[in-house]
Amino acid sequence: MAKRDYYEILGVAKTASADEIKKAYRKEALKYHPDRNQGNKEAEEKFKEAAEAYEVLSDDQKKAKYDRFGHAADMGQGGGYGGGGMNVEDIFRNFGDIFGGGQGGGGGFDPFESFFGGGRSSGGGRQRGRKGSNLRIRVKMTMSEVANGAHKTIKVKKHVACHTCHGSGAKDASSVSKCTMCGGQGVVKRVTNTILGQMQTTTTCPQCNGSGEMITKKCPTCNGLGTEYGEETLNIDIPAGVQDGMQLSMSGKGNAGEQGGPAGDLIISIEVEAHPELEIDGQNVIYNLHLNFADAALGCNVEVPTVDGKAKIKIPAGTQAGKVLRLNGKGIPSVNSYGKGDQLIIINVFTPTHLSAEETKIIEKFRTSPNFKPSKDSKGDKGFFDKMKDIFRE
Ligand SMILES: [Zn+2]
Ligand SMILES: [Zn+2]
Repeated sequence: MAKRDYYEILGVAKTASADEIKKAYRKEALKYHPDRNQGNKEAEEKFKEAAEAYEVLSDDQKKAKYDRFGHAADMGQGGGYGGGGMNVEDIFRNFGDIFGGGQGGGGGFDPFESFFGGGRSSGGGRQRGRKGSNLRIRVKMTMSEVANGAHKTIKVKKHVACHTCHGSGAKDASSVSKCTMCGGQGVVKRVTNTILGQMQTTTTCPQCNGSGEMITKKCPTCNGLGTEYGEETLNIDIPAGVQDGMQLSMSGKGNAGEQGGPAGDLIISIEVEAHPELEIDGQNVIYNLHLNFADAALGCNVEVPTVDGKAKIKIPAGTQAGKVLRLNGKGIPSVNSYGKGDQLIIINVFTPTHLSAEETKIIEKFRTSPNFKPSKDSKGDKGFFDKMKDIFRE
């Protein structure tokens, strides 16, 4: 399979600056982020592809080689510029900071990090124990909560740090010793010769998993694991404008890691509860108002439900069925930018199906009245009649 051009993958010009390349990668990586594309193999491939492109284009030496030789430069290296063998976890370890908040210059506003801060734990440095697994929960939101944002206090059952050893997995302080393989460094170094020059790779020590320590006596409560099953009360602020099915992640709020390793993430799936009277259409809220014929003809004051309780509106005399009234700013805010949608009130006029003898008599009088003749001059939707005329003229 022919490999795609790295610049093309990131959608940048060959002349792009390091900052532009970083921004482009960040955009691609967030788009194909596994948390947003659960079980989507294609997205995962794209995510890896972008990471490989970024790995090369963000490194001056590798970039220079690639610019001269293209993909031919990595022939014989087996799997490309080291990107081929990268799995998703490696990507987070190597480029984790790209997801982190506080990077500045990121441009766009992203709820996945702005609200939950931190993004993925940035890699590098010593990592103790094994990372905890991600925890998934579902959070129900009413339409009013979607419009205003919500603060939720939720109890979750998950793996927490063992209360006896506080997560270390060791019986006591004296039952921890320096790792024999890495001498307490947590990493092992290896030098390899490649076509791109001599490369020194540093990998996490396989014996101590990077902690630099070894446990000689295990904690009896957790049998050395450092975790136990427990419960945590989480305070979650959910931004306004989230949509049904959207996933938000909170870094480090998932299951505790083994032997003091970093905790996994908490993945929150949003479930928007149906409102008995209102519907969401993008950022707008739709309400179908049913008027009786007399109210539509004479005008009236009515109360309509909104995402923030009731609102009084005035229906002008002579309101036509199908007319749409707009309550500005009474819709849903955008989760990604500023601005709010509106509430649209669609007017429906109810035609009575049962009439008393007296009502029939009264209405019968109106039947031939010129005021009751549907007219394009009516104050309502002129466009409709004009359109009909156009259609029949063809
Ligand atoms: Zn323990
Ligand atoms: Zn070690």
